[in-house]
Amino acid sequence: MNDILLGPHISAAGGVSNAPCRAAKIGATAFALFVKNQKRWAARHPLSEEEIGAFESACREHNFPVSSILPHAGYLINIASPKTELRQRSVRSFIEESLRCSLLGLTMINIHPGSHTGLTDETGAVALAAEAVRQVLEAVPGIAIVLENTAGQGTAMGARFEHLRDILGKVGRPDRTGVCIDTCHLHAAGWDLGTEAGYNRALEDFKHILGFETLRGLHLNDAKQPAGSRKDRHAGIGQGTIGTEGFARIIRDYRSGRIPRVPMILETPDPHRWEEEIKTLKAI
Ligand SMILES: [Zn+2]
Ligand SMILES: [Zn+2]
Repeated sequence: MNDILLGPHISAAGGVSNAPCRAAKIGATAFALFVKNQKRWAARHPLSEEEIGAFESACREHNFPVSSILPHAGYLINIASPKTELRQRSVRSFIEESLRCSLLGLTMINIHPGSHTGLTDETGAVALAAEAVRQVLEAVPGIAIVLENTAGQGTAMGARFEHLRDILGKVGRPDRTGVCIDTCHLHAAGWDLGTEAGYNRALEDFKHILGFETLRGLHLNDAKQPAGSRKDRHAGIGQGTIGTEGFARIIRDYRSGRIPRVPMILETPDPHRWEEEIKTLKAI
C-alpha cells in the first residue's frame, strides 16, 4: 500500500541538502523547506553545483520524489502590493527563489496571494497578483506556482476560494498553477473543521469554486483560535480547536482518494512533536 505523503516544513540551516536527511530521520514521506533565508529579500549565495548535487542525492537516498516536496516562498514577498516598487521587488525575489527551486530539480513553489494593504480593493489585488504570477511563470520555465489560502488577517487576500480562483483564472495556465490548502487558515477563515458539517461544507465549497484538480498541497495545522477568528495561529495536531478527529477525517478522505494524493505538510509550532504527529496521522 502506498504510504501517505506527510512531513514537516523542515529547517534547511547549513544548506538545503540537510532538509531531506532531517525529514527522513523523523519518519517523513514529504517535506517543505525555504530555499533561501525567508526573512531576507535576496539570497546571500547562489546555490553551488555541489549543494545542488548533494540535495538531489539526499532526496534519492531518502526516497523523496519531487512530487513529495513543496518549497515555501519567503515572507517578505507581497505579489499583490499596490505599491509598484514593493511589487517589483517581490516579483524579483520570487523569481530568484523559483530559479533556485528549478536548479534543485523541484517543480513547484508555494506562496501566499499577498495583501491589498488598503490601497486597492480585492479586485485590484487579484489583477496585480495574477500579473506577478504570470511574470514568474514566464521567467522560470518548469515551475508551477501554488497559491495558499489564508486566514484573512488584516488585508490579506486568500481567505475566500474565489480570490484564488480569480487569480488562477486570470493567469490562465492551469498546467502550471494550483493551490495549497492550509487547515488552520481554512478554519480561521470560517469553515469549522472541528465539526463534520463544517468539514463537509469546506470540501463542497472547494469542489465547486476551485475543483480538486487544482489541489497541489495541504498544510496540516491545528488552530489556537476558534473557527472564524481570522487569526493565523498554528497549534500542534490535536492541541487546537480542529482536534484529532478533524484531522482523522482528512486522512481518511485522503486514503480513500476523495482528496488527491498531494504532499501534506506540518507547520506545527513544536519540532520536537513532529515525529509523534507523523506517527499519529499515519496510524489513521
Ligand atoms: Zn504559507
Ligand atoms: Zn501554511
